[in-house]
Amino acid sequence: MATQRIPSVLEGMWFAPQIRLQRIGQIVRPIYRGLHFTLTALSAAAASSPPFGGAEDRAATANRCHCVLQSSTKSVVNISSVKTLSAIIALFLLNLRFAAAEPPAVSVVLITIDTLRPDHLGCYGYAPIQTPNIDQFALAGVKFTQAYTPVPLTLPAHAALFTGAFPLTTGMHDFSGNKLPSSTITLAKILRDNGYTTAAFIGSAVLDSRFGLNQGFATYFDHFELGGLEEVHLDAIERRGDRVVDEALKWLRLNTNLPIFLWVHLYDPHAPYNPPEPYAGRYRARPYDGEIAFADAQVGRLFAGLKQEGLLEKSLIVLVSDHGESLGEHGEKTHGFFVYNSTLHIPLVFKIPGAVPGVVQEEVSLVDVMPTVLQALKFPLPAGVQGRSLLSLVVGRPAEDASNLYAESYPPFLHFGWNFLRSLQRDGLKYIDTTRPELYDTRTDPKELNNLIGTRQAVAQGMGERLHRLVRRFAPAAGAPAAENAPSDPALLESLKSLGYVAVSAGSVEDASGKSLPDPKDCIRVYELVSAALADGQRGRHQESLHELQEAEKADPNSATVRFLLARDYYQMKDFPRAAEHFQSTLSLNPKNSVAAYYLGLSRLAIGDLEVAEGSFRRALELDSANFSAAFNLGVVYTRQHRSEAAVQAFQHAVEILPDYAEAHEALGELYLYLNRPYDAARELERAVAIVPKMAKAHYHLGRAYAALGLQEKARKEFKRAKEP
Ligand SMILES: [Zn+2]
Repeated sequence: MATQRIPSVLEGMWFAPQIRLQRIGQIVRPIYRGLHFTLTALSAAAASSPPFGGAEDRAATANRCHCVLQSSTKSVVNISSVKTLSAIIALFLLNLRFAAAEPPAVSVVLITIDTLRPDHLGCYGYAPIQTPNIDQFALAGVKFTQAYTPVPLTLPAHAALFTGAFPLTTGMHDFSGNKLPSSTITLAKILRDNGYTTAAFIGSAVLDSRFGLNQGFATYFDHFELGGLEEVHLDAIERRGDRVVDEALKWLRLNTNLPIFLWVHLYDPHAPYNPPEPYAGRYRARPYDGEIAFADAQVGRLFAGLKQEGLLEKSLIVLVSDHGESLGEHGEKTHGFFVYNSTLHIPLVFKIPGAVPGVVQEEVSLVDVMPTVLQALKFPLPAGVQGRSLLSLVVGRPAEDASNLYAESYPPFLHFGWNFLRSLQRDGLKYIDTTRPELYDTRTDPKELNNLIGTRQAVAQGMGERLHRLVRRFAPAAGAPAAENAPSDPALLESLKSLGYVAVSAGSVEDASGKSLPDPKDCIRVYELVSAALADGQRGRHQESLHELQEAEKADPNSATVRFLLARDYYQMKDFPRAAEHFQSTLSLNPKNSVAAYYLGLSRLAIGDLEVAEGSFRRALELDSANFSAAFNLGVVYTRQHRSEAAVQAFQHAVEILPDYAEAHEALGELYLYLNRPYDAARELERAVAIVPKMAKAHYHLGRAYAALGLQEKARKEFKRAKEP
C-alpha cells in the first residue's frame, strides 16, 4: 500500500527550516572554521606553513604559532569594526563571539592502511619506494618508530584500535565469526556522543558492519556485494583505495556539520598484490611496494580534499596500520599466523594541532591510539581502556609508564587445532609463549632469528610470568560482554575464505589444553599449503588446490580443516558424491562444524538424496540458528517432497532470521499460489520485488497472483515487468 502523501503546503513548511539551516551553514562554515583557527595556537601555526612541510625546531614553531595567533585575531577585530554591517551579519558575529567563548572541538581523521610494514615506507628509511604523501605527513607530525599491533589480523586489530583494549578483553581474536558486542565503548561512539559527525569508508568486507565496528558511525560505507552462494571473487569484496577515497571526498564536500570524525581504511597492500598502473609497471618486481605507493597516492588525494575543506591543518590526524606482512620471513608469506615483528611492527604517525613535529622511539601499542586521541581532545577515558595515552610523548615529554606490548595469534588453534601463540615485548626483549617458547633480543636481532631461550632461561621465565599476569588481568571478568556470534551468512563466509582466511572453527579457546598441542613452528608448511590451496580454489584452479590439500593431508591426516577444504573443492567442481563423502568425514572429525553440515545438505540435495539433505540442514540450524540459507534449503527439500505446509514453515523461518531475504519471500509467494492462497502470495511477492526490483520470476508470479485476485490491470503490468531486461 502506498504511504499517504503529505499535503504540499505542509511539505513546504516542513522543508523551509532545513533550507534555512543549509544557507546558514554555507555562510557560517568558512568563517566559523577561520575563527576556531585563530583560537588555537596550534592550528594557526599549521595554517601558515606549507601542507606538511619539513620539520622545524620546537622554538621556531612556537614563535610562529604566537605570530599567527595575533594576526588572525586582528582580522576578526577588523570584521567586527565594519560599521555598515546589516543586522543579520551582526547576529552572525554574536554567534561567532559565543563560539569564541567555547571553540568547536578539533576534527579527527583516522587513516588505517592495511598490511603496511613500516620498513616499506620512505619515512621509515626504505629508499626504493616513493611514498611522498605519507613521508611529508610523517615529517609534519610525530612519528613512532616502535609501534606494534596486539594481533596481526585486520578485524581484531581494528577492534583493538577502536576500543583501546586487547583481544583478550574484546573477545575479538579472529577475522570473522564473531562480532564486537553492542555494549562496547568505542572511539566512534564517544566522539558521536560528544557532537561529532562520524563517518567511515571501508576497503574490505572483513570490516563489514555485521562485525560491529560500525558502532558510533552515522555513515558507514561498507556496502559490499556479497550475494549468491557461489564463490565470490576476491576483487568483488576488496574496494580499491581510489574508490574508498572518492566516497570519503564526496562525503567531505557534502557534510557541513563540524567537528567530524572521519575514518578511511585503505586495503590495497593486502595480498594479492595487484597495483593498478602506473604502479604495476613502476614496481613490477615488487608488487607489494606498488600497492603501498598506490595507497600513498590515495592518502595524498585525501589530504588535498581535507585541505580544500579547510580541515587539513587544524584536525587531529592519525595514520596507522593494523599489522605488517611477513613476506616469507619465518616461512610465513602474509600475516595472521606467527607473532614475529614482521607482522606486528606497524607505522604510526600522529599530527595533533599544537604538537611540534618529532620522532618517538619508545615502544608503544596500537591500543594506545584511542586513549591518546581522547586525551588530546580532553575527553575522559572510559573504564575498560587498557592502552595508555601517548600524548606526553607526542608533545615531547617523558612518559610515566611503559606500554604493554602483548600480542597473540589464535588462528593456528581456532582453525587447525594447533597451539596458539602469545608474546610479550619489553625493553628490547621478546618472549613468545607456545609449545616450545622463544626469546629474542629484538635490538640486536630484529628479524628474530636467534632464539635465546636455552641461554637466558631466567629472563625467559620472568617474562613468561609477566605475560601470564597480563593475560590474567586482561581476560574478561565473569559477566563481562563477550564477543557475539555474527549472524552466519554462508555467502559472507565464502567471501572471507576467498580472502585467504579459513572460516572453519575447530574448537574454542576454552578447550585449549596448551602444551600438548602441536607447535605452530612445525605446522607452517601445512598452513602455507592450505593457504595456497585456498588461493587456487578461489581462482577456479581446483585440481591444483586438491593436489596441495592432499599434500597437506599427508602431513596432518586428522585435520578437519583440510578435509573440509577438500570437500569444498569437490563441491565447486560439482563432484557432489565426493563432496558429500568429504563433508561427512569432516563432520566425523569435528561434529560441530555447522558449515560442513550445511554443505553436506547442499551436496545431498544436488544428488537428490532428500532425506539426508533434510537431516543435514536441520543439523546446520541446530549448530547455528542464524543460518537463513539452511532454513531456506530445508524449504526446498520439503517442496520437492510435496510437503507444502512444512515448506511454508521453513521459508517463514528463513524470513524470520533475515527479513529482507527476497528469495525466501519469492518462494513463499510461489508456494501460496500453488496452495490457492493468492492474497498471501501477492503480499509475499510484493515484498520480494520491493527488496529486489529486477526479480523477473517474482514479477511473473505476482502477475499470476493479481490475476487470481481479479486485478487484471496490475497483473498485466507485472507480466510486462517480468519480461523487462
Ligand atoms: Zn589487515
